[in-house]
Amino acid sequence: MSGYLAKMEEQGFEELIMVCDASCGLKAAVAIHSTVRGPALGGTRMWSYASEEAAIEDLMHLARGMSYKSAAAELPVGGGKGLIIGDPNKDKCPELFHSYGRFLNRLNKRFYTGKDMGVDEDDLTLMCDETECVIGGESVGSPSPFTAYGVWRGIRACAEEVYGSPNLEGKVVAVQGIGSVGESLCQHLVDEGASLIICDLDQERVKAAQEKWGARAVSPEDIYSQECDIFSPCAGGGVINEKTLPQLKCKIIAGAANNIYKTKEMAKAIQERGILYAPDYVINAGGLVFVEMHRQGITDQEKITAEVDRIEERLKMLFRRAREEQLLPAEIADIYAEERLQMR
Ligand code: NAD
Repeated sequence: MSGYLAKMEEQGFEELIMVCDASCGLKAAVAIHSTVRGPALGGTRMWSYASEEAAIEDLMHLARGMSYKSAAAELPVGGGKGLIIGDPNKDKCPELFHSYGRFLNRLNKRFYTGKDMGVDEDDLTLMCDETECVIGGESVGSPSPFTAYGVWRGIRACAEEVYGSPNLEGKVVAVQGIGSVGESLCQHLVDEGASLIICDLDQERVKAAQEKWGARAVSPEDIYSQECDIFSPCAGGGVINEKTLPQLKCKIIAGAANNIYKTKEMAKAIQERGILYAPDYVINAGGLVFVEMHRQGITDQEKITAEVDRIEERLKMLFRRAREEQLLPAEIADIYAEERLQMR
């Protein structure tokens, strides 16, 4: 465990809390990066890692990322993340989630959480039996349509920057991954007159997209080399790398996936290829807005949509600043978030 306090100090963390409940096998941790803007907000994931060090490293990385995402979205919350260590396919039982819920209560509303990898709606419902610090479960619904809506608004901002107009009519968008965000995004794009190239590992989803929107389907390997205006990654992270970047023929990369590239050098290489990149945590914040507004008790869809609409203006402002300050959009997004991280 040595070195964590130094790392916390270096990265501005407030708390790292661990819990063990032998009665149900719960081993969990919560990292609270910042509560300057408000209580920390971030999902809880259930995952087994190669080592405890790898688990805590990932947890801290994700918690810090949430502070940036909340601050860039101008929400009155900070950043944190929860982790239940275990195999989501083998180690779940109701008492585990009840115990985790009671642990959250002991944090005195400094951390609110929701769904992340390995945790589903049923698990959240069990946590909700014990705590008010969980947003999700049956009564709240899915944030994904709001993430998709925000990505669509963000793509419009990108189109304005590159083509001089936000209008997507006639534009070709290659969507990687037709899951809960990708599917809803495709509908917005088609409604605006864009045409789709799609891929998914799941053939049922591919077939449905072909039938519903007349989308042209390609294999997951071929999606990168398609002639298109916009490439929209809505599956996993790390998809833009040394192998895929040279294949791209698009002018814009804008999608829901987190950490679309792994290294800073890649961000520079994207720009050098003449491609505009929409910073992931800015464009995919619609679901976070939905969760935070529910936390505040705001469930009115129009009010939530109006807040998500702001992603378009925010991205336009970031692109303008990036041009003026001769920095990458991703660098400006970090600066913008850091400016706000210190503000209530
Ligand atoms: P999902 O699991 O519902 O959908 C992902 C889809 O991508 C699935 O249909 C899967 O079969 C497909 N897929 C996986 N690997 C693929 C590959 N190599 N090529 C083609 N298709 C592939 O996930 P989701 O909730 O739609 O989220 C999509 C992405 O957006 C994820 O990276 C997620 O972290 C990110 N994100 C989601 C939300 C949200 O509100 N759901 C919010 C922010 C960010």
